[in-house]
Amino acid sequence: MSALLRAALDALTATSLSNGTKQMIDMKLVRTNFYTRWPCDVCGGCTEKVEWLCEGQDIDGYGVRVCEVCLEAGQDQIDNRLEAHLKDREKGTLWLRSLIGRLNIPTFDEWRRAEGPIDERTGERLPVGGPVELEPPEWDHLMVGAAAGGRCRDDFIIDDDIPF
Ligand SMILES: [Zn+2]
Repeated sequence: MSALLRAALDALTATSLSNGTKQMIDMKLVRTNFYTRWPCDVCGGCTEKVEWLCEGQDIDGYGVRVCEVCLEAGQDQIDNRLEAHLKDREKGTLWLRSLIGRLNIPTFDEWRRAEGPIDERTGERLPVGGPVELEPPEWDHLMVGAAAGGRCRDDFIIDDDIPF
């Protein structure tokens, strides 16, 4: 991080902390037309792909979002959930600090070689060993399987924990 950015962040933090405001933040239900899993500032989890989000803004103009799980827990649990999230963040900070000086990583070139070449015609990544094209019967199988909502190949990654 550059010294200039560090100084700006320090000044911003000092300003925010020096305000020490206890002014309530009015959270509002806001309709979205972009369906994704948005991060929740209270619990550190994410919303589901919902139409209505609970959002507000602090005195410094930073957005705050509360997921539907935190809404369900209710007003009297908000501070407890914030405290639990804060403890997790503190543990995460300690863990990150513990990694300093201990990571032995492969080179970027090793990663590029592992990724394989890029097809200059399409811009898509080619598997190591050259292009592999799906035969029409396999493609039909994939489409039918996807339409039925099932897994059709073992190498498909379906992870609902991915927040987007
Ligand atoms: Zn939440």
